[in-house]
Amino acid sequence: MEEASKQPVCFKCQGLGHVSKVCPNRTMVTRQEYYNFLMQNMDELVEQEQELLQQVLMQDVAALDFLEN
Ligand SMILES: [Zn+2]
Repeated sequence: MEEASKQPVCFKCQGLGHVSKVCPNRTMVTRQEYYNFLMQNMDELVEQEQELLQQVLMQDVAALDFLEN
């Protein structure tokens, strides 16, 4: 369990071992799923991700475009 928790977690598919930028899974999460994921992992978010969460809350889904690039 400790090993898994240290791996990067993908915002798109929530899979372990990779991040959304290099996600092999092209399925987009919904805004609600993304929001829930961020809230559940709040303690582990880096500063950039915390900013993204605020953008999601304030600017709707537009912030997700950032993850696509
Ligand atoms: Zn993924």
